[in-house]
Amino acid sequence: DEIKTTNFIHDIIDADIAEGRHQTIVTRFPPEPNGYLHIGHAKAITLDFGTALKYGGRCHLRFDDTNPEAEDIEYVNAIQEDIKWLGFDWGEHLYWASNYFDRMYELAVALIKKGKAYVCHLSSEEFKDYRGAPTEPGKEPPGRKNSIEENLALFEKMKNGEFEDGACVLRARIDMTSPNLHLRDPAIYRIKRAHHHNTGDKWCIYPMYDFAHCIEDSIEGVTHSMCTMEFEVHRPLYDWILEELDVFRSHQFEFSKLNLTYVVLSKRRLLQLVNEGYVTGWDDPRMPTLCGMRRRGFTADAIKKLCEVVGCTKYEGITEIELFESIIRDDLNEHSLRAMAVVDPVKVIIENYPEELEENFELPNHPQQEELGTRTVPFSKELWIERTDYMDDAPNKFRGFTVGREVRLRGAYLATCNSVEKDADGNVTVLHCTYDPETKGGSAPDGRKVRSTIHWVSAKHAVDAEVRLYDRLYTVENPLGDKEKDFKDFINPDSLETITAKLEPILAQAAPGTRFQFERVGYFCADKDHTPESPVFNRTLTLRAPRKK
Ligand code: ATP
Ligand code: MG
Ligand code: MG
Repeated sequence: DEIKTTNFIHDIIDADIAEGRHQTIVTRFPPEPNGYLHIGHAKAITLDFGTALKYGGRCHLRFDDTNPEAEDIEYVNAIQEDIKWLGFDWGEHLYWASNYFDRMYELAVALIKKGKAYVCHLSSEEFKDYRGAPTEPGKEPPGRKNSIEENLALFEKMKNGEFEDGACVLRARIDMTSPNLHLRDPAIYRIKRAHHHNTGDKWCIYPMYDFAHCIEDSIEGVTHSMCTMEFEVHRPLYDWILEELDVFRSHQFEFSKLNLTYVVLSKRRLLQLVNEGYVTGWDDPRMPTLCGMRRRGFTADAIKKLCEVVGCTKYEGITEIELFESIIRDDLNEHSLRAMAVVDPVKVIIENYPEELEENFELPNHPQQEELGTRTVPFSKELWIERTDYMDDAPNKFRGFTVGREVRLRGAYLATCNSVEKDADGNVTVLHCTYDPETKGGSAPDGRKVRSTIHWVSAKHAVDAEVRLYDRLYTVENPLGDKEKDFKDFINPDSLETITAKLEPILAQAAPGTRFQFERVGYFCADKDHTPESPVFNRTLTLRAPRKK
């Protein structure tokens, strides 16, 4: 079913094509390899790659590696893996901004030769002071009147390492009176002695984002360069640089970021969670990273669907996490395999079931999707059921055992609870039941009605598993909303509870990453630590949304 969503950029592209401005639509996704991708990046990826697909164009994966400090090859690999997992493909179009350093240098020299760039020795405080406030014009920086020859010589010295880090910058010569501070002669090259993963120690000057990004787009022939709203005020600079350099004109379009309640998206902050041990790593299942969500059991389809549903607008909103969770539940309900697991076990003894007998039942892996096949589930005299599936003096609507009531053991038999044993604290320890051997498969030949069906695991065959019950990482909708506090002050101390559950045996054989619905319990995914000998499952989500407080 087609979802109707807003995408104002597609409206622009439709017009561009109708008016013959472009033959081929070229977009790019430009991650900085300084962290793992998060769900916000999925929105950009879906838009960049999705737009190229929609218009039969191409989308480049470009590592925006112009800032040598924080970048790491670990991130480069993870980013590629995550984009592929989402289902997108850049084909041959993998690029590195750092491969354009020579060209960028040439273009900077070209700007100087036009009298449109100059070397400035102001300190960063002086720089801000001269730039001034938006309400009043800035002051003319010393150096603005340097001759072209002086600037060429100074820039050459910058490149040759004759100045200390930060001693001077190259600035674009635009307008010190512009109401847009980004146009008040912005810095376009800085001195920074740092080893670069690609260019090594070749450069001690690096281009600033505003100079680099538009040139990268232009070199690659990007027609529609999409970025988030905070770059809107940079767009006049993007246009100014490409126009002054008289190179291919790419165009920038801004859209609003994805924000979710109970989620903090910022690589800098996510890195703090990792470094300070709040989570076990970038792929901790509580992290909003794509690798964390994958490990948690979220599907790529659900993530893409969320991006489609929120659409592409300029409106800065915050999306409720419940929307995302309901999309995930719908997807998992449709596609995940069913299995039985008991998370809070209590023993059932079927008194009239023969001591040594074992039976195997073939149960469907999915109630609607026959093509998902069946599995063999062993049954025997002693079973585990959920503690919550027994109640003393239960009301009629209770869907479980109470003394005297007949209940269906999913796919096996009808059984009646005759008595229970309790410990000194009054907790039930054993349910004594009898079964009706005529009800094999779970239906009575006399057609009598049994309203309740519960899940169970044969005690003799049960596999103990570590089950990690994840909850939201924060206790408040907006952990960044309180300026007096740090977002980490709102970390939920109960975001992870680890229990031991009783699983039907086939679950031990699951490949890591396989998703299940543990019937009547929730959605679970075999963790990357899972092995047949020591099974580990992550709770993806509870079966239904908890009631809103
Ligand atoms: P963060 O602020 O989380 O560190 P970033 O913007 O610095 O992210 P980049 O690697 O520069 O990370 O991002 C690559 C692309 O993803 C950019 O075009 C950026 O605008 C986009 N992007 C980042 N966060 C979001 C978000 N929350 N929603 C949509 N797009 C985003
Ligand atoms: Mg960035
Ligand atoms: Mg950032």
